[in-house]
Amino acid sequence: MPTVETTGGPVDVDELGLTLIHEHFRTTDEAGRFQFPHLYDEQVEWDAAIADANAVKTHGVRTVVDPAAMFLNRDAAFSKRVADESGLNVVLATGIYTYDHLPQFLFNRDEDGIAAIFLHEFEHGIQGTDVKPAFLKCAADVPGVTPNIEKVHRAVARAAKQSGKPIMAHSHPASGTGLEQMRIFSEEGVDPATVQIAHTGDTDDLDYIERLLDTGCWIGMDRYGLDLYLPTEQRNATVLALLERGYADRMFISQDYCSSIDWFPREVQDYLKANEVPDWSMTFLFDQVIPTLKERGMSDDDLDQMMVENPKRWLGS
Ligand SMILES: [Zn+2]
Repeated sequence: MPTVETTGGPVDVDELGLTLIHEHFRTTDEAGRFQFPHLYDEQVEWDAAIADANAVKTHGVRTVVDPAAMFLNRDAAFSKRVADESGLNVVLATGIYTYDHLPQFLFNRDEDGIAAIFLHEFEHGIQGTDVKPAFLKCAADVPGVTPNIEKVHRAVARAAKQSGKPIMAHSHPASGTGLEQMRIFSEEGVDPATVQIAHTGDTDDLDYIERLLDTGCWIGMDRYGLDLYLPTEQRNATVLALLERGYADRMFISQDYCSSIDWFPREVQDYLKANEVPDWSMTFLFDQVIPTLKERGMSDDDLDQMMVENPKRWLGS
């Protein structure tokens, strides 16, 4: 029986149950937090995180994958506390979330040197804890696959090959990065069946999505509620079309929700929440999306495949 590392140690894949593949219990910049702590309220962040953890549990969720990485204030102790107090399994990553910039300590290391940093965590744990990552994370966005981004992807690929761990790659479909990312992974000899291209659901271009699926990867239809990237109606139509074409066993649904996020000043954040992404929450799937998809033809088996079986297979790969 394959096992998956969680903040509470390895669990059998059969124990994962209903899984949200891409959510964040806290998204902040670690440098901002360290340098300007007056901008952050730990208690408010904690309250939001534990409220969301408990809320998803009432919908039967047993596991949340939180793909925080460097630059998203990945914090093993915080995540472990969320898991311990809620009773959820929380699954963490190792990796770097950058769209281009690399600090000197990474800029001046080569691919293998960066891979060694990730591999250390699979063996010894994250941030001096005994919490181990279950997968690798990297990102490409509007700037595309720049030399720095290519280096991070190759480092992730090499660490994946050495550790046997799966990869989640944040993508930007509008720039077609998914195909570029898969090209690099395949050049490095990574098994495409271990790679998840996140945020593929930000496009309804079925042509692009099928070309991506043809590479053999998983796709994340994982930003439900983030209407500013693609409204729910179009996300639903795309998922239903892909189900009809037989891709239930290749995709995930999730929300990329952040219980708290520091990307904008508080007042801008409040404005965006109220006006641009009013539905975005960690339970939007259960409150609205799943009932709608079911009404329009998604079977219970499809749902079970996307939220129970696929997480088991990707994480256990
Ligand atoms: Zn995310």
